[in-house]
Amino acid sequence: MLYVMTMIAYKFRFYPTSAQEQALCKMFGAARWAWNTCLAWRSAAYTLDGESVSGMSFSKELTWLKTLEPFSWLKEIPTVVYNQALRDQDKAFSAFFAKRARYPKFRRKGGPESIRFQLNQRTVMSNFRDGELLKLHGLGKIDVCWSRKMGGVPKMVTVRRDASGRYFVSMTVETVVDPLPQKTNAVGIDVGLKDIVVTSDGMKTGNPRHLRKAEKKLKRAQRQASRKVKGSNRRKKAVLKVAKLHAKVADTRADFLHKLSTGLIREYQIIAIEDLSIKGMARGRLSRSVADAGLGELRRLLTYKAEWYGRNLVVIDRWEPTSKVCSECGHKMDSMPLTVREWTCPECGSDHDRDVNAARNVLTAAMVGRTKGSAQSAKARGVEGSGAVPPVTARNQPR
Ligand SMILES: [Zn+2]
Repeated sequence: MLYVMTMIAYKFRFYPTSAQEQALCKMFGAARWAWNTCLAWRSAAYTLDGESVSGMSFSKELTWLKTLEPFSWLKEIPTVVYNQALRDQDKAFSAFFAKRARYPKFRRKGGPESIRFQLNQRTVMSNFRDGELLKLHGLGKIDVCWSRKMGGVPKMVTVRRDASGRYFVSMTVETVVDPLPQKTNAVGIDVGLKDIVVTSDGMKTGNPRHLRKAEKKLKRAQRQASRKVKGSNRRKKAVLKVAKLHAKVADTRADFLHKLSTGLIREYQIIAIEDLSIKGMARGRLSRSVADAGLGELRRLLTYKAEWYGRNLVVIDRWEPTSKVCSECGHKMDSMPLTVREWTCPECGSDHDRDVNAARNVLTAAMVGRTKGSAQSAKARGVEGSGAVPPVTARNQPR
């Protein structure tokens, strides 16, 4: 059996003491200062002298700056905070030069903030115990809400404050994932608004009421915020409220999609979904943002979980009129308005649930393929996950 070594990222909320909150505020400010000053220095050095300097050379300048009276405040912050920000900037520049990212931007006060700490692996025993203890340089013991064990020791800890003022630590550990035993079944899924997911087997997830409620609240808060005078205190308060509700909606949806994707991966060997842009074309403008955010996230989760557990994700990236075609006989209807939830095929007489029928067509498109069934067409359809698609015939398709 094949084992997959993979990096898993964990994110936990934490509650700083007021002293820690003050210290963090200074650290965030210092990291932002180092980032912005170095960025300005870099850009100037390049445009004026055609010279390229790195974050590490700025770090040396920093040591000198600290000896000057106007910059004595720099000494209050642990050096690691500056150095990590500068290292991150070096990485951002490498990504830019490799054309993987845009030119690094200046950091703005009041936006999301983050700093990173390297955990010294020699002294890690006294600073980190999985699910129990985390101590950070200059902050001391962190009151982390450990929701689970990570099964490893992180090398790096990122501390974040989001726009709504919540604090998080993120850590990445390397873990072995055991693939699940191979299966021979397959499923097609349709993503929508009424049900977040409908499968070709007829499973409907619904749209959790608490998520819908949170979304409604968010919309109302957004409307209210937009009516307040720009720059006013009321506006600031309303914007913070929007940020908080936004975070809540995102968390609720993420949690739901996590459970959903794990369930699908456990249950099926091959999972077929439609590509985001295709789905967007098939729908009106109004419903796009909400459902698409869900589909994009679901695809991301399914992609890496398929990789971990040895499953196959097939993404249909061709235009397929999944709602209009009868999944039994292939008869294509001229139109299929969104209001039609159930219909009967005039050709073969099959009764269809709109979404289940669409999900079945997604599965068919994935298995048969409109293209000529070669290895190349499998690639064109975007087979993701490890290994080749095992042979699945119409016989072992659950219908
Ligand atoms: Zn039919």
